[in-house]
Amino acid sequence: MTARTVYCLEYSLRSVESTQVSNKYETLFTPVKIGPVTAPNRFFQVPHCTGMGHLRPKADAATRAIKAEGGWGVVSTQETEIHPSSDLTPYPEQRIWDERDIPALRLITDSVHKHGSLAAIELAHNGNHAINQLTRAPILGVNEMSADILSPRQARQIDKSDIKNLRYWHRMAARRAKEAGFDIVYAYAGHHMTLAHQFLLPNVNDRMDEYGGKLENRVRLIKELIEETKEEVGDKCAVAFRFAVDEVKGADGMQAREEGRAVVEMLAELPDLWDVNVSDWSNDSVTSRFEPNEGYQTSYIDFVKSVTSKPVVAVGRFTSPDLMASLVNKGIVDFIGAARPSIADPFLPKKIEEGRFEDIRECIGCNICVASDNLAIPIRCTQNPTMGEEWRRGWHPEKIQRKGSEESALVVGSGPAGLECAMQLERRGYKVTLAEANEEYGGRVLSESRLKGLNAWRRVADYRIRYLQQSANVDLFLDSRLTAENVLELGVKNVFLATGSKWRSDGIGRSNRKTLRVQPAKNIFTPDDIMGGALPKSGQLVIYDDDQIYLGGVLADHLSDLGLDIVFVTPANNVSPWCENTLEQHRIQRSLINKNIDLKFGYVISEISEDRVEFECNYTGKKLDVTTQSVLLVTERHREISLYEDLMKLVSEKDSQKFFLKLVGDAAAPGLIADAVFDGHLAARNFERDEGEVEKEFYIREIISLK
Ligand code: ADP
Ligand code: SF4
Repeated sequence: MTARTVYCLEYSLRSVESTQVSNKYETLFTPVKIGPVTAPNRFFQVPHCTGMGHLRPKADAATRAIKAEGGWGVVSTQETEIHPSSDLTPYPEQRIWDERDIPALRLITDSVHKHGSLAAIELAHNGNHAINQLTRAPILGVNEMSADILSPRQARQIDKSDIKNLRYWHRMAARRAKEAGFDIVYAYAGHHMTLAHQFLLPNVNDRMDEYGGKLENRVRLIKELIEETKEEVGDKCAVAFRFAVDEVKGADGMQAREEGRAVVEMLAELPDLWDVNVSDWSNDSVTSRFEPNEGYQTSYIDFVKSVTSKPVVAVGRFTSPDLMASLVNKGIVDFIGAARPSIADPFLPKKIEEGRFEDIRECIGCNICVASDNLAIPIRCTQNPTMGEEWRRGWHPEKIQRKGSEESALVVGSGPAGLECAMQLERRGYKVTLAEANEEYGGRVLSESRLKGLNAWRRVADYRIRYLQQSANVDLFLDSRLTAENVLELGVKNVFLATGSKWRSDGIGRSNRKTLRVQPAKNIFTPDDIMGGALPKSGQLVIYDDDQIYLGGVLADHLSDLGLDIVFVTPANNVSPWCENTLEQHRIQRSLINKNIDLKFGYVISEISEDRVEFECNYTGKKLDVTTQSVLLVTERHREISLYEDLMKLVSEKDSQKFFLKLVGDAAAPGLIADAVFDGHLAARNFERDEGEVEKEFYIREIISLK
């Protein structure tokens, strides 16, 4: 047993009062037959990326195991490359090129089966979405066409012999999947990301042969793949078909009520399971900022069950047990599909089963998990800081080690870092005092969630506040801005400072390290001013976004709705470029364009004076003057560490040995809300641990064997 497994053996779950499923939700816990296999319940973790895949197989298996332990009756891999001509490097998806991949995949099936769940695998040939940067294989397309990912190499149209090969590769991959122990094998035509989907799409496939033209022809390839998979593994494995019924492009694409339905009618009884959604990925995994409603895909997929007798699974960021039960009871779906809700709370099914509804950690629809995949790094989640750390750090979302010898701790600040830190310290058994300067708990989560489209982000604070308010072991104080003297008077010797950060007002940021020439009379705002309720006078407002993450774009949208006439200037080449990672950038830019916001790209701020802001072109240095009454600077943040510095001064060197003081969250290093939650969690877990052990964790990684 390793140090990491010992470390998290003890439970800190709230006592489970009821293990009876309320009648209302019983329907969610009935077994469902899928071809030759039976799922133990109706909770289905549909395929989703982890950023671990074939590069980090133990980590991936540990993540999937937690889902099974948390009650997901079916747990699926992410898309699994079936052949070197579907090489998604540098993205570490799953891989089943040959039999050498089987042992790593078996880690997943074994760990999922251990908890009584079914293991599914999503086989994929990614066509022109796979640009084969590792293998340098030709890029295969439905047509002669550009690659889907920016690449100088184009795809070539696959011919009859390629199609024959593709079918053989799929069949062989299915055979290996069965050998690896999977219960469900997918054929995948979704997200615009697979050859089978590209063949189906009327606005993509321009072939003239029997695989192009009318729908009967375009459907031919996926029909062959499903038939052959059944032939190969259907005795033991169910064959699922993941199909995007609608491209959300209106008449310019496949529509659920027209060709989408026709495909389901043509193949109705062929697969053992229909996994239906919308495409592309940005529509399927749309953020709450642009689609606040749970169940947003239902109106697209609700016809499917009337066409097939086979079980149907669908997603829609489901976190409400009532909605889940009603969708099953009304016969709209057989399974509640989830990717993001299962990431935010791997124990969602168990919590419903045990009637612990308030303990559900609801997904906020921020797509930080999606960003991890797009950045080719292990999965991270805003709500669930243990996600992706199950193997590496031995973290479990519902278990934490008991406290050491210390009795109590003080947490200053109730932003995401302070709330998470306080909650986990409480779960470890410490008596916790939490002091917040403001009149409400929540810090930046509360402020940001009041901006346009970000309301669901409140859940980060609400979930933790509710927990802390119910605990007899926590004292909570609002309206309590603590000084160093206050902290020492309290007599607590373990102090976590989660005092956050503040946006700069001097224009210094990513693109400009020089202090600006600023006329003092000018109306300069920071995001903190706006979120604190200050509003520029009506008229023109220049927003200068050198942060380039999400907040500048959100504020432009928000303030435009409040009637301000906005000029948005950024050194970047588009609005909120980082939000490409969360699949939102195009929506953000569209929204700002539709509001007639004047967008100016490639400019760095150089001077703010009476009624005017001066910029310089990033490339040429050419000046740009914008006349304005007010300017909002979204650049960088300062850490709020004055309390830390004062305490360090007051505590003598001798006393400091008995005094534990730690900066957490944005006060330690400004970042995303996800980073603050993670840091609060980490600080609580590491409290009273051996420093050497903590240090070692930085080095833990999966090293590829040289044998
Ligand atoms: P993080 O993202 O790291 O959690 P936030 O900026 O969201 O940081 O939250 C920091 C919180 O700390 C804010 O709500 C702020 O009011 C509070 N705070 C800052 N200084 C003090 C202090 N001296 N005493 C009590 N609360 C403080
Ligand atoms: Fe949901 Fe955000 Fe977590 Fe993804 S990162 S699962 S969207 S809370």
